Amino acid sequence: MALPLTIQQSSPAESATPELIWSKCLRIIEPEISTLSYKTWFQPVVPIKLNGDQLTVQVPSQFFYDWLEEHYATLIGNTVKAVLGDSAKLFYSVASESVVPEPQTETVTPLPEQAQTHLPFAPHVAMRTENLLAVPTNLNPRYTFENFIKGDSNQLARAAAMAVGNNPGGTSFNPLVIYGGTGLGKTHLMHALGNYAISVGKAKRAVYISSEKFTVDFIESVQSDRVSEFSNFYRSMDLLIVDDIQFFAGKEKTQDNFFHTFNALYQHGKQIVLSSDVPPKELKGLDDRLISRFQCGLTADIQPPDLETRIAILQKKSQENGLELSSDVIDFIAANVKNNIRELEGVLISMLARASLESRELTIDLAKDVLRIVVHELRSPISIEQIQTTVAEFFDLPVDQLRAKTRRQEVVIARQTAMFLAKELTNSSLKTIGLHFGGRDHSTVIHACQAVEEHASTNEDFRRQLETLRKRVSLR
Ligand code: ADP
Ligand code: MG
Repeated sequence: MALPLTIQQSSPAESATPELIWSKCLRIIEPEISTLSYKTWFQPVVPIKLNGDQLTVQVPSQFFYDWLEEHYATLIGNTVKAVLGDSAKLFYSVASESVVPEPQTETVTPLPEQAQTHLPFAPHVAMRTENLLAVPTNLNPRYTFENFIKGDSNQLARAAAMAVGNNPGGTSFNPLVIYGGTGLGKTHLMHALGNYAISVGKAKRAVYISSEKFTVDFIESVQSDRVSEFSNFYRSMDLLIVDDIQFFAGKEKTQDNFFHTFNALYQHGKQIVLSSDVPPKELKGLDDRLISRFQCGLTADIQPPDLETRIAILQKKSQENGLELSSDVIDFIAANVKNNIRELEGVLISMLARASLESRELTIDLAKDVLRIVVHELRSPISIEQIQTTVAEFFDLPVDQLRAKTRRQEVVIARQTAMFLAKELTNSSLKTIGLHFGGRDHSTVIHACQAVEEHASTNEDFRRQLETLRKRVSLR
């Protein structure tokens, strides 16, 4: 990598800020890569800390970090050294990961050296997973009410969170319990509430914690004989936010400790905010006295977003990422990714990744390719029955013909095509596939696969049909 020779090696002066240093780095990096790659992978990086010649930047996700590491490690490593000197070190803080750290990294602050053994990186570049921006509260500043899109599906939860954020402990919504499926915005909303309460000065002491981390820390406090320190910490809060309380299930001692913490806070008019994947009364493995406490405030649900909300979210997120998506691409994604906002984000990020890696335009075709992979992976596996239905529809045949004995030419082609797709798109064995097609044996399936491959290799039309079928099956 040829770096411009005119770059001055500024010694880390007292007045240097992380922003200043990072903007110098960006000036070196920008001309080296495409505009799209620059926008995608460098603009979202936030410089957060400078300690001598050690710079810490925050990236939005683990995926993002992996991508940077794989594609730009050398460029970034050299650039940071060019700006801060040869012994410079760069640390990464992963925003989303830091919120709910992996259990094995929970108890100790990972040292750069430790991290390196898991994540080989260029020399002088290492990684940290704790959120350096928000050490005392664990609140992630990226999650705000402003960037939380309002929709029918989240209206109650959002309104309740705003009311509580504006007056923690002072409403009848105590505790506030937000429940709903995964990837629907519970964690986002809780952070937004905490950030808001702090920013308007309504909570001096606030902390966000996942129930898993609470559990791990509690157990550790027992082992190190520091339970009262642990308890006092949480009982001194104005606002305690505990995410995913379903994971308290079966942890009786932790529940007991949490019960007393809950009571102490509640009695002093302090606010408790909880989230769960089901309504409190359906929580399994939790003590009844806890469940009844959870029900004495407000329980608000978040439902999967409707189409308008999905479109609004895609518009907002693509804007945030500097992505210009046409409305038909947005409509297409919104129509096909229905259940989960995290999945919507996944599609956007993958589109960015593909577009910048393969120099492709952000078209519907790219969206389809990405959906096939992203959604396919996230959805339940494709079944042989699904394939049969899709193929029969396509060839305009009754589906039972595929399982029947008939040897009519058009049925044979459809049947062989369905077998071929079953082999390609499911994990079923040849024997299982044969059984689904009227009890044929595995050699018939092998023969079918060979016939289809041969036909596709000589017949362009058939090859296209096969491609269409693959997509239809995957998008079903
Ligand atoms: P949950 O905790 O319910 O599993 P998260 O809060 O982690 O879901 O949300 C998943 C992702 O979707 C996050 O990146 C979050 O910012 C985003 N998200 C969820 N709901 C919304 C919304 N209404 N507006 C904007 N982004 C949202
Ligand atoms: Mg969550």
